[in-house]
Amino acid sequence: MSESVDKSESQLAIVGGGIAGLACANQLQAAGVSVIVFDKGRKPGGRMSTRRVDDKFSFDYGCQFFSAEDPIFDRQVKSWLDSGVVSVWRGSVVEFTDGQVIENSSTRPRYVGVPKMASVCSDLASGIKVRSGVEVNEVRRIDDMWHLLDDSGTSLGQFNALIVATPPAQAEKLITHAPSLLSVALRVRMSSCWSVMLAFPERLDCSFDGAVVQNSSLSWIARNNSKASRIVATECWVGQANPEWSANRLDASRDAIAAELAHEFGKLVGVAMNPEYLSAHRWKYAIPSTPLDLDTGCLFDDALNIGLCGDWCLGNRVEAAWLSGTAAATRLLKIR
Ligand SMILES: Cc1cc2nc3c(=O)[nH]c(=O)nc-3n(C[C@H](O)[C@H](O)[C@H](O)COP(=O)(O)OP(=O)(O)OC[C@H]3O[C@@H](n4cnc5c(N)ncnc54)[C@H](O)[C@@H]3O)c2cc1C
Repeated sequence: MSESVDKSESQLAIVGGGIAGLACANQLQAAGVSVIVFDKGRKPGGRMSTRRVDDKFSFDYGCQFFSAEDPIFDRQVKSWLDSGVVSVWRGSVVEFTDGQVIENSSTRPRYVGVPKMASVCSDLASGIKVRSGVEVNEVRRIDDMWHLLDDSGTSLGQFNALIVATPPAQAEKLITHAPSLLSVALRVRMSSCWSVMLAFPERLDCSFDGAVVQNSSLSWIARNNSKASRIVATECWVGQANPEWSANRLDASRDAIAAELAHEFGKLVGVAMNPEYLSAHRWKYAIPSTPLDLDTGCLFDDALNIGLCGDWCLGNRVEAAWLSGTAAATRLLKIR
């Protein structure tokens, strides 16, 4: 760790309780650094989110599944498998083009959080001080300390190190004191995505559980209840619109989008549309389309004790986010 951070007493703030921020917090806490995570969502998890409705419906409406190529992340996933935090999704995944179904040849295991995608983030957050529902709106630099303020200008505390673990556009207003980091981060573009959630009282007569779709406004559809430990009494599906379609309708109403995507879903799977539950969610910053490929895994300014991490530093997937968060922790601890 840089000399100005005292392991036993220092307070370190992490803005962003997605998998990157929580992986970072988890590693720092394990090394004895006192950490606090701020997240504006109702619960931590970020884009690894699950919506449960009345304990009747459950939808992973952000990340669908993840894989592990890197040996260090693979080790983490094996440990989650052992403790039941994740399981392998054994659903049948296909390519679906104009009604034609082609088996997907990938043999790489697809992992999901259990009983919901966000369980992975809850596991990383256990024992860590997380303040959910708090949006950090401003960061000031006073006497070599980072002062965080919420949207009403109320102080959230002062810290001698700060990690910002959000998409670059959301980090912009927080890292004005580190312009060299900001200029690199803002090179990253992120695509948007509208997700639709649909529930039906009975199982749909559909031969697959997940499909990469071509020639449609929907680029992905998946049967959520084919994942382990979901609410199986109800048939819950998630669809994701393709980036171009989503970008062209960013400001459309949620209801209009839900209706339009439900109609398309009905055409794809050949069912008359009468869902028991229908809703849509807009991910303004969904997937990094021009991620960085940083050797360091994160951006860091040693002199200022400030760092940035997230999927966009290394790729556009969960694995990249976890690796970036752990790289930020490692950088801070200076154990490499
Ligand atoms: C629709 C969709 C489908 C996807 N599918 C897959 C998939 O199948 N496989 C896969 O591997 N990946 C997938 N991804 C990508 C994956 O979800 C991300 O790579 C990963 O979750 C990113 O984690 P992160 O911690 O970097 O960022 P995030 O999860 O975005 O976390 C950032 C956090 O910062 C918080 N925040 C932002 N600003 C502030 C602020 N000012 N104050 C406080 N908190 C703030 C947010 O609330 C959020 O919780 C998908 C993503 C989306 C959106």
